[in-house]
Parts: sequence; structure tokens; C-alpha cells
Amino acid sequence: MKSHVSLEQNVCVICGTTFDTGSILLDKRLRASMERHTTTGWGLCPEHQKLSDDGFVALVECDPQRSGSTSNAARMRPEHAYRTGRLAHLKRDVCTKVFNVAIAADQSCVFVEPGVIERLQKMVQPASA
Ligand SMILES: [Zn+2]
Repeated sequence: MKSHVSLEQNVCVICGTTFDTGSILLDKRLRASMERHTTTGWGLCPEHQKLSDDGFVALVECDPQRSGSTSNAARMRPEHAYRTGRLAHLKRDVCTKVFNVAIAADQSCVFVEPGVIERLQKMVQPASA
């Protein structure tokens, strides 16, 4: 059933979960044009927002063979990323050191190729969350 209001949802860029943003979308002309839920874009689910706020960067493992056009995981767009489901969280400064790249303050995740997280877990001890 369509309605003139819809609950806004975003997709978590880290885990791929759809979650409520808490916002309500309103059809300006009050037409019953919308589904009950409308996904408007990427965001961070409450769990990953919290980790991001706490200074963690998420490493999101992607399968390059099943992800879109690019073979370079670091340049992968969220919509192309095929998440394997393996995640790790590193403190921002640790992440910067390990990858030898600056992680922007607003960057909450990095896409990595299979095997990277496994190797990292042998080097450092990521947060269990
Ligand atoms: Zn999430």
C-alpha cells in the first residue's frame, strides 16, 4: 500500500544492513506515492555509527571478482562492493599506520581485498566488535 509518508531508511556502508534513519519523508503534494519504507542512500547503522564515533575505521572485506568494475578495493564504490561479511575495526591511527595512507576524518570504512583482514589480525589485535 502506498502512502504520502514514508520512513526513510539508509543502507549501512559497512555491513550492508538497511536501517531506519528516524526521518519521515513526506510527499510534498501529499500524493500516495511512496512505499512504507524508502531507501535514500548510504549511511551508518547505529552500531557502526557508534564505532565510528569512537574513532574506529571499519575494514570491509570485498570479493573483487564479484564486485563491480574496479579491481582496486581501495577505490571501490559502496554500491559495487560485494561484501564477504568479514569485518574488522581498527583505530584510525592504527589504520593509517598499517595502510600507510591518511584516513580522512569523515571516512568510516575502507574496502579491502580478501586476505587483508586475516593478515592484519596476525599483526595487530583489532577490537572484537
Ligand atoms: Zn552497520
